[in-house]
Amino acid sequence: MHQPPRILLTGAAGFIGSQLARELLARGAEVFGVDDFSGGWPGRLPESSAFGFAEGDVSEPGFLPGLLRAEGPFDQLVHLAAKVGVRSVLRDPEGCRMANLRGVRELVSAVAGLDSGLRPRVFAASSSEVYEHKAGPLREGDPTRDIEASGRWAYAASKLRGEQILEEAASLWSAERQPVHLRFFNIVGPGQDAESGMVLPTFVECALRGAALPLHGDGSQVRTFALVSEAARSLADLLELPRLCGGALNLGGRARTSIGALALEVIRQANSGSVIERIDPLRSCGANFEGILYREPDLGRLKALGLEAPGSDLERIVSETLRHHLELARPLTRSPREAACVSPAS
Ligand code: NAD
Repeated sequence: MHQPPRILLTGAAGFIGSQLARELLARGAEVFGVDDFSGGWPGRLPESSAFGFAEGDVSEPGFLPGLLRAEGPFDQLVHLAAKVGVRSVLRDPEGCRMANLRGVRELVSAVAGLDSGLRPRVFAASSSEVYEHKAGPLREGDPTRDIEASGRWAYAASKLRGEQILEEAASLWSAERQPVHLRFFNIVGPGQDAESGMVLPTFVECALRGAALPLHGDGSQVRTFALVSEAARSLADLLELPRLCGGALNLGGRARTSIGALALEVIRQANSGSVIERIDPLRSCGANFEGILYREPDLGRLKALGLEAPGSDLERIVSETLRHHLELARPLTRSPREAACVSPAS
């Protein structure tokens, strides 16, 4: 009888992880989730007999190697656990870098410690933040940032170095076990938490309360958004591909907008009386803060693999997110001014 694929998913209680877990379970996979609940929460975990879970910190020495031995073998390992969000990165850039890199090193040690036939294929979350600025669609081969960068770029540097650590280790692994680095571009939608400073849930929460929407800079910075449910479908499709080369892969959508226009769209759809409050990023995020002016993925590699990219437009993304927030009617836990360091970076 055909065995369902067994997938280990770190960051399973996170925004993308919880949606991906549901998508994989719906397709008949067995999923084993891991999370330390530092950014996610238990209520996000799916309830299913095909879902197992262990609470734990992937950067803790020995945790992942022990888990792979105890719960394996797994066909695939999707590594999403990471310290994310510009706000938390700016609070402790080096802590974020070290935590993310310890997680990747533990993952490598866990996979390398297995017999080659028992090694899962690794799909690890990277980020569009790794790219240098470009006023056009970013391709996987485009120049990347300084791998030693600190401060605001420590998160990007941790993702780049994470890719490198995985590549170095995988040079000893078989061709079909080469890792895929998932360079996500602004995945948003229902279930994303405003706490880490993500722009869409922050705008939505403010608009629903009638509070001012904090606009970082002049609002002309451009981002391209993808709906999380569609990104989870693209990811699950990717995991089902019978043949796949390793390397970097952009994963994003087509909803391109300036952040100023996004604020206006949220206000319009929420039928809100909110105003937009411009915030000086140098005051809210520090004198050395450097924003990103334009970010759009080139999805050529994704399409060449025969995969459908998330296709929702901005109107649908905003309306789904608004509907979710209205259903939850969750109170705003911090003031819009505290939300000043708004950036769609992740
Ligand atoms: P998220 O914060 O919602 O999910 C991350 C999850 O990892 C959380 O549930 C958190 O509790 C968990 N976690 C963090 N550190 C951990 C640790 N040491 N051990 C165990 N669990 C830990 O973020 P997300 O938006 O779902 O992002 C998922 C991944 O995708 C991250 O690696 C992130 O860097 C990357 N990414 C996301 C976006 C985006 O647009 N959402 C963009 C670029 C990259």
